[in-house]
Amino acid sequence: MKKTKDAYEESGRSLVIPLFIMNSGCSHRCIFCNQKISAGNFPRQITKEYFDAEVYSYLAWNKDKFRDVEIAFYGGSFTGMDSAYQEKLLSWADAFIQRELVHSIRVSTRPDCVAEDNVALLKKYKVSTVEIGAQSFVDDVLRFAQRGHDSASIVNAVALLKRHGFRTGLHLMAGLPKDTKQGFIYSIDKTKELKPDTLRIHPTLVFKDTALAKEFREGRYKPLELAEAIGLCVLAWEKLSNSGIRLIRMGVHITPEMEKEASVLAGPIHPSFGSLVLSSVFYNHIINGLRNISPDSKELHFILSKRDVSDFRGLHNVNISAIKKLYPRANLIVKSKHEQPRGQISVSADSGESFHVRIPGII
Ligand code: SF4
Repeated sequence: MKKTKDAYEESGRSLVIPLFIMNSGCSHRCIFCNQKISAGNFPRQITKEYFDAEVYSYLAWNKDKFRDVEIAFYGGSFTGMDSAYQEKLLSWADAFIQRELVHSIRVSTRPDCVAEDNVALLKKYKVSTVEIGAQSFVDDVLRFAQRGHDSASIVNAVALLKRHGFRTGLHLMAGLPKDTKQGFIYSIDKTKELKPDTLRIHPTLVFKDTALAKEFREGRYKPLELAEAIGLCVLAWEKLSNSGIRLIRMGVHITPEMEKEASVLAGPIHPSFGSLVLSSVFYNHIINGLRNISPDSKELHFILSKRDVSDFRGLHNVNISAIKKLYPRANLIVKSKHEQPRGQISVSADSGESFHVRIPGII
């Protein structure tokens, strides 16, 4: 399997080893779902040989760099699968934990497949995190996407998992059919109320061989433009920045299958989607502060943490170019300082005017 930056998902010190269960446990297919494209072309049934080979191959990949190593079952409804198969997979993962090669297990599943009687197995094997595919809290959106559950089942699933001491993660989608900006904001607000530990937001893409592809081809579905999808994620970032919920991914991981011609028919796909969102967040806050700095400035200094430089500059220096347009006579000097806290930018002009800006949610 191709090792990607995606395997580091939660932080630079955690290695997530993904095992894709390829729609196993799903009672039917949601209109947007094509795991063969979004996850990759993995076997439908995981054998012990395959499992061990995958885990060892990730472990061999510079494991000393990582503090935490986690095996994650993605790409289906784990708790909807036959319990014997669940137990088989969990016991294989547990064997790595017993040998202290792996530290934890996470699974992803549907909200309507979370119940008192199926969390016992997860507890037996000390699964630490359960991610729930919520996608939206708007019932009409869930119905049209043929999710087969309503928003109440998301609320119940998260409450039950929390009661049993699991860490929880939610997935939301932006731009599903029938959704609106207000609907998306409603879903973010509901997420905030539920307070899962983490959230991922995926803009809706139109994959071939899905019911959504038919909607798109027949003109009944129009995906979000890239700028719209970024705008919604910027809103989500701002709303969640002090909520204690970590937004661990915005945008989809681009698989080799997605890069094949005609796999993704439409939608806001971009390999650096998350960075585009963050650089927009930086830009908005800087521009707000710059309102008090004279447009005739000859020199503008920006002091920031080294880790913020690329989000501050934006892809291909887009933020720098935009600031330059507002200050055509100014020389822009961007300096990183070791002692500058992340998310904090100090701006000063030759006129003596200055300000500090704190970018929310950057830690
Ligand atoms: S529940 Fe998840 S994996 Fe299963 S069909 Fe729906 S989106 Fe795909």
